[in-house]
Amino acid sequence: MKTNNLYKKLEQSIAGEVLVDLASRRLYATDASIYQEMPRAVVRPKNKNDCIKIVKFAHQHHIPLIPRAAGTSTAGQCVGNGMVVDVSRYMTQILSEIKNNTIRVQPGVILDDLNDFVSQKNLIFAQNISTSNRCMMGGMIGNNACGSHSLLYGTTRDHVIEMETVLSDGSVARFGPLDELENKLKQAGLEGDIYRSIYHAIDTESIKKHYPHPEIIRRNTGYALDYLANHQPWNKSGKPFNLAPFLCGSEGTLVLLTEATLQLVPIPKQKLLICVHFVDLVKSMRATVAMLPHNPAAIELIDQRILECTKDNLEQSRNRFWIQGNPRAVLVIELFDDEPSVLEQRAQVLIQDLQQRGLGYAYPIIRDEQRLGTTQGRAWAADGHTQ
Ligand SMILES: Cc1cc2nc3c(=O)[nH]c(=O)nc-3n(C[C@H](O)[C@H](O)[C@H](O)COP(=O)(O)OP(=O)(O)OC[C@H]3O[C@@H](n4cnc5c(N)ncnc54)[C@H](O)[C@@H]3O)c2cc1C
Repeated sequence: MKTNNLYKKLEQSIAGEVLVDLASRRLYATDASIYQEMPRAVVRPKNKNDCIKIVKFAHQHHIPLIPRAAGTSTAGQCVGNGMVVDVSRYMTQILSEIKNNTIRVQPGVILDDLNDFVSQKNLIFAQNISTSNRCMMGGMIGNNACGSHSLLYGTTRDHVIEMETVLSDGSVARFGPLDELENKLKQAGLEGDIYRSIYHAIDTESIKKHYPHPEIIRRNTGYALDYLANHQPWNKSGKPFNLAPFLCGSEGTLVLLTEATLQLVPIPKQKLLICVHFVDLVKSMRATVAMLPHNPAAIELIDQRILECTKDNLEQSRNRFWIQGNPRAVLVIELFDDEPSVLEQRAQVLIQDLQQRGLGYAYPIIRDEQRLGTTQGRAWAADGHTQ
């Protein structure tokens, strides 16, 4: 069958769109990475049924599938010479009300839209990643995305409870926490095969030996077998066996995600930033380790190169109001707490600790405007703390 006729058949069978023209394929030949590869076709499913038909079609004709949400991946995850499945156009619904701090969404829901919706209940999705105004839940799950608060909240994997997926043969499988793995191991079909093969692949000793140390939170190095090995049945006191967190970070290579149930966290009540100034970068790195026992929500480095770029930039020079002298590096430490007085005390203890260790030369604290009001039109107010 001629290529275009082949895709015509798919188009006639689904509610969504199939694009095979050169211009559309060119548009989808790139993501936010340096890579470029022309897909054979692009398909925009409207619903789960479309996804099933798309996967069955790809299976039958041996066409690789490249799931795609907002396409902000930086390592070429969304480019390839197969068929791009773009969930960003139609699969964009929030599917449930908030229940027990959880919510069910389609993969094309944008992170900022989700947070706008759940903030009515003082909740938030914990991963605050830089591309929040466009990246989507399917893509965050695909990449196991994490933002500056990973010290406190871990990664996306730690906040995905359940997934509805389409497997490579077009069957639908729901993955969630299991009280009883035995039944799944006996199940017939592809889903049962998946449980059996993963169960037999977990060899806890070699995983412990060869996977990166669990304290390294921000990493995505292959499939998360080490995550499973740390749960039941291998670790009796661990969480129940659940393939949903395992699928996070699989970059669209294992399943096509059609729905996810997400765990939300309360919006922090009080927060502030301590901007520690350093005369050299190495000292700022030493200070990072020293600050960890103070339970920061985030520690972000601003190096000299970035600081220099802000000097002659009209917009960014306004954001330099808190900078003292000419630091070679600044560590921005964010603290969260429920009580303002406790938060202030923690900030002072942290600063004293750094001063005693001879780390840093200035420690301005920046509080947000809700608490202190804006100063000269600035969104943040700073007070100085210099050694
Ligand atoms: C300037 C910039 C800053 C960034 N900052 C961060 C950051 O702070 N933290 C961070 O973690 N990342 C960051 N990223 C990377 C990227 O934005 C995130 O990983 C984001 O979560 C990807 O979301 P997306 O919707 O663009 O996904 P996409 O890029 O579209 O897809 C990501 C992966 O998910 C898979 N996928 C998408 N939908 C599905 C589905 N329905 N079923 C199965 N698989 C699917 C794709 O195949 C792909 O492998 C940044 C990128 C840029 C360009």
